[in-house]
Amino acid sequence: MNQPVTPSMNEQHSTHERCDTLIIGAGPAGLAAALAAAPSGAAITIVDDNPQPGGQIWRDGPQVVLPALAQQHRAALARHTNIRLLPGTRVVGLGDFQPSDKAPTLLLEDADRGWTQHSHRIILCTGARELLLPFPGWTLPGVTGAGALQALIKVGLDVRGQRIVIAGTGPLLLAAAATATQAGATVVRVAEQAPWSALAGFAMQLPRWPTKAVQALSLLNTRWRANSHVLEVQGTTQVQAVRLRKGPHTEETIACDRVACGFGLVPNTHLGQMLGCALGGPLSGGQGLAVDALMRTSVPGVFAAGEATGFGGSERALVQGAMAGHAAAGQVQQA
Ligand SMILES: Cc1cc2nc3c(=O)[nH]c(=O)nc-3n(C[C@H](O)[C@H](O)[C@H](O)COP(=O)(O)OP(=O)(O)OC[C@H]3O[C@@H](n4cnc5c(N)ncnc54)[C@H](O)[C@@H]3O)c2cc1C
Repeated sequence: MNQPVTPSMNEQHSTHERCDTLIIGAGPAGLAAALAAAPSGAAITIVDDNPQPGGQIWRDGPQVVLPALAQQHRAALARHTNIRLLPGTRVVGLGDFQPSDKAPTLLLEDADRGWTQHSHRIILCTGARELLLPFPGWTLPGVTGAGALQALIKVGLDVRGQRIVIAGTGPLLLAAAATATQAGATVVRVAEQAPWSALAGFAMQLPRWPTKAVQALSLLNTRWRANSHVLEVQGTTQVQAVRLRKGPHTEETIACDRVACGFGLVPNTHLGQMLGCALGGPLSGGQGLAVDALMRTSVPGVFAAGEATGFGGSERALVQGAMAGHAAAGQVQQA
């Protein structure tokens, strides 16, 4: 059961709590893990540092209409009384291991308190973050990550009427451009630094995943240019323009109010590494947490799923999360 270790203590103020399965991260992977493990009857605690579950792709906020799949996951979560969701909660360190623990003990905190969380299993669903590389002017107000701009818009940033340049590399640029356009901004350029040859290779793979191909087509943007690099953001107290290099010899300067840059994703492995988990996720160039076929990491009792193990989008995160949830519940066949 989800309960304080010392029963006489008020749960709100207890300093030690215990559950069967502790899931870190309530994105697609964490939600799928919780829902897969729930029918076993295990006491599940799922924590996330955001105010609402959903992770990156299903981030909730005043400007968001959640997709049906996200709503279904949230509704299913609420139906399981053995799942305890703790939003606004993060892991801040390692606690003292007790003999009854089968997994490492973690220190958690929310806005009001801190406590030690004991568990038999931990599932790390900590996702990924975007890589932002520096360039002249990158600290000016108005420069953000591409995914960060998307997240800010979802939680209420008003970009109506603003001119935005989105730059860097990867599919997230197009997703960010679509979000900004829907929110009333004018996306004046999507500058993809990869050359056409690399993009053609990527496009050739898309028919293998029809859903992704349809999604890519729906995100196509007439302002998108390949082989286009950010050289400098100009402005004194705020972004006023961005200078881009087009091909080997040509430059262009575009007046704008915001520049949103992302250079791909990096798996969030700090927590896993703190626990001693080995790296080696193959879809992340070896930077993700290494897992076996049952999503077990190299540390006993610790599983990992989703983008913390490598990249592949929400579909892969959902499948891996479900596998980890079943495996953590001892349901090897289902996993
Ligand atoms: C900025 C950004 C924007 C993205 N936007 C899109 C998009 O529009 N479309 C798309 O297809 N893909 C997008 N992605 C890719 C996206 O990460 C995956 O498609 C999908 O969300 C991965 O699911 P996940 O459950 O593995 O991780 P995530 O959805 O990233 O969920 C991980 C969760 O764990 C939480 N967390 C991490 N560490 C801790 C900790 N120590 N304590 C508590 N909580 C913690 C995070 O806050 C997060 O809520 C985006 C990625 C990023 C980084």
